Amino acid sequence: MQVKLHLRFHGHATAIAAAELLQSCVHCGFCNATCPTYQDQFDERDGPRGRIYLVKHMLESGEASDATRKHLDRCLNCRACETTCPSGVQYGRLADSGRELSEEIASRPVVERLLRRVIRWLFPYPQRVGALLGLGRLVKPILPRRLSRQVPPKQASGAAPDALPQAGRKMIALAGCVQAAATPKTNAAARRVLGRFDIDLREMTGAGCCGAVDYHLGATADGLDFARRNIDAWWPAIEAGAEAIVTTASGCGVMVKDYGELLKDDAAYAAKARRVSELAKDLVEVLEAEDLGVFGQLNFKARTAVHCPCTLMHGQKLGASLPRILERIGVPLASTTEDHLCCGSAGTYSILQADISRRLLARKLQALSIDNPDQIVTANIGCQLHLGSQSDLPVRHWIELLDQ
Ligand code: SF4
Ligand code: SF4
Repeated sequence: MQVKLHLRFHGHATAIAAAELLQSCVHCGFCNATCPTYQDQFDERDGPRGRIYLVKHMLESGEASDATRKHLDRCLNCRACETTCPSGVQYGRLADSGRELSEEIASRPVVERLLRRVIRWLFPYPQRVGALLGLGRLVKPILPRRLSRQVPPKQASGAAPDALPQAGRKMIALAGCVQAAATPKTNAAARRVLGRFDIDLREMTGAGCCGAVDYHLGATADGLDFARRNIDAWWPAIEAGAEAIVTTASGCGVMVKDYGELLKDDAAYAAKARRVSELAKDLVEVLEAEDLGVFGQLNFKARTAVHCPCTLMHGQKLGASLPRILERIGVPLASTTEDHLCCGSAGTYSILQADISRRLLARKLQALSIDNPDQIVTANIGCQLHLGSQSDLPVRHWIELLDQ
């Protein structure tokens, strides 16, 4: 696909990169078959191929209409289309570029802008999320049922993990934002479990949100500032020999693995960002490389349905790792269907595109429940909270099974 860039994009790095990304699309439309929003809307503009044409039109005309923005906004960034595409189109990058350009060209209605500002002010900061959750729990009894189910119960992190100053191996944990406030048990459990392998897993002061919230909302510069802050906070530990940067939320993991590419033109950070991305590992990658025999002694009884997040399956191409680990330690797995489909959480999507998100959630819960499981496990905080908001079954991070 050839693109003739409009004059307004002369020398515009994002537009030039988007035009290059577009070139590998051969318009076959295979991607529509696995795109959750196309499956929901059956409108070509709500599938990857249609969105690619919308971005092409924007690049060539220098204009973005409300329709352009609407259909780009409806994309979940789940990247199922990348897994399906025979031409290797990097749709995720293209969608981010398209959103950044459309934000730049056409301003949003004031209410939409305000909502996005609030989201960007709130979610990347655990203290603010914690305060909101605290307030939500306080008023939960008087909230309408649909809203009250959105407020997760308070989660204890469990016994403080032992300090392991003498551990032979050191790893850095991404502190994160929403997860740190809503499910503090996840990183604490990861630390306890990795401790059994002589690994000291530590969060670093000054690190926080991976930057994905801002970045995927078109505020790319602010998203990259979060990345730089994390790199600065991690760098001393990296220089001291940390062997990995471990992410326990796959949505954050896919972002950290992208730091090298996203900051490749930043002279001050390019080399460090590349190193950080090389070191980034999802928790499943760390544990899959270990001898899990010790967990095989546990007698897991609860039949477990696995929801593999899109960011693990399509973003990090680690879809098989999670069920493989659980099978290795003897967790009885329940059958599921439509494993490739997004649950509708997708970061802030469940707030900004509530109707589509709700329909995807109902479809996903049905697909996870066909074999009557006792619980659902997943690997990303967004999915965990979203599924938990409507499921009658407990929804947990999978590391809790190894920690129990
Ligand atoms: S990222 Fe997901 S929602 Fe967006 S176009 Fe691709 S498959 Fe569809
Ligand atoms: S499957 Fe790939 S090449 Fe085919 S239309 Fe979709 S993005 Fe383009």
